Amino acid sequence: MIIVLKTNATPEQINHICDKVKELGLTPQVSKGVERTIIGVIGEEDKLRVKPLSTFPGVDSVVQIQRPFKLASREFKPEPTIFDMGNGVKVGGKKIVVMAGPCSVENLDMLVRIAKRVKAAGATFLRGGAFKPRTSPYSFQGLGEEGLKYLREAADQTGLLVVTEVMDPRQVELVSRYTDMLQIGARNMQNFDLLKEVGATKKPTLLKRGLSSTIKELLLSAEYLLSKGNFKVMLCERGIRTFETATRNTIDINAVPVVKNETHLPVLIDPSHGTGKWAYVGSIAKAAVAAGADGLMMEVHDNPEEAKSDGDQSLLPERFDQLMKELKPIAQAVGREI
Ligand code: PEP
Ligand code: MN
Repeated sequence: MIIVLKTNATPEQINHICDKVKELGLTPQVSKGVERTIIGVIGEEDKLRVKPLSTFPGVDSVVQIQRPFKLASREFKPEPTIFDMGNGVKVGGKKIVVMAGPCSVENLDMLVRIAKRVKAAGATFLRGGAFKPRTSPYSFQGLGEEGLKYLREAADQTGLLVVTEVMDPRQVELVSRYTDMLQIGARNMQNFDLLKEVGATKKPTLLKRGLSSTIKELLLSAEYLLSKGNFKVMLCERGIRTFETATRNTIDINAVPVVKNETHLPVLIDPSHGTGKWAYVGSIAKAAVAAGADGLMMEVHDNPEEAKSDGDQSLLPERFDQLMKELKPIAQAVGREI
């Protein structure tokens, strides 16, 4: 349920409504839009029926949200979410954000080398896994905290932001200390305890779509983050499981317009995991920009043959550089920058 306020509603009236909502055991979420302020009410909506909220001073109307996801819906927030990373980098704005780096953090040298190359090519985030969700327990599991330190060091040396995966609710505090954006991986999209813990940090978060999850399920997982008061959320389409075996996954390019229609949250495409092969990454990155994606995440490695994970889908730095140049006119054609 959302409470739409009158344009001239005063802060006192807003506080009064929030207090009443809390008294009923529900949680109010105030969203100040350009044209109007609305209060989202989270919890068992039946409780609200006992108070005729529409009669409260400052209230214009009370609207039932039909979608299963509430705070993530366009009904709750019609205008797109744009959030600042604190250093002037805006996610969801005119400029498409690019996150690039190796699949796994392997050592500091390689990370600094790659960070310099992706920064020079125009990336704003350094990606890299320190805690890796591997299918086999015998595969490289990541460097853990040491990897987080390397990420921070390489990003600070090059002026990039860090995005890295957190897999375990017990490690949210540790990973938060070193990163600018927390990543929830595809395999953890429905780890609801992790979502709650990450939501409570209020740190910018990248939520990846599960391997076999619907867009509705993705948005309900985002709702977990939003309902904890974390609105700095970006969604990521990274390919889903289909009957096709020519590529590692099938990128659901439909997800870009569908997500943008259903929600105000920015959406990003990961063509590396989406295809599994570096030779296809460029085509899908271009399609993503043309379709209106707000960001791209790509794996880059300067020695893919020796990469500890996902070498097959990693671009060489020079190929990444070339792709970034090729993306510019496409971004421009759809009114964006990269
Ligand atoms: C990653 O981006 O490092 C990753 C493991 O991706 P996904 O969760 O999409 O498989
Ligand atoms: Mn990977």
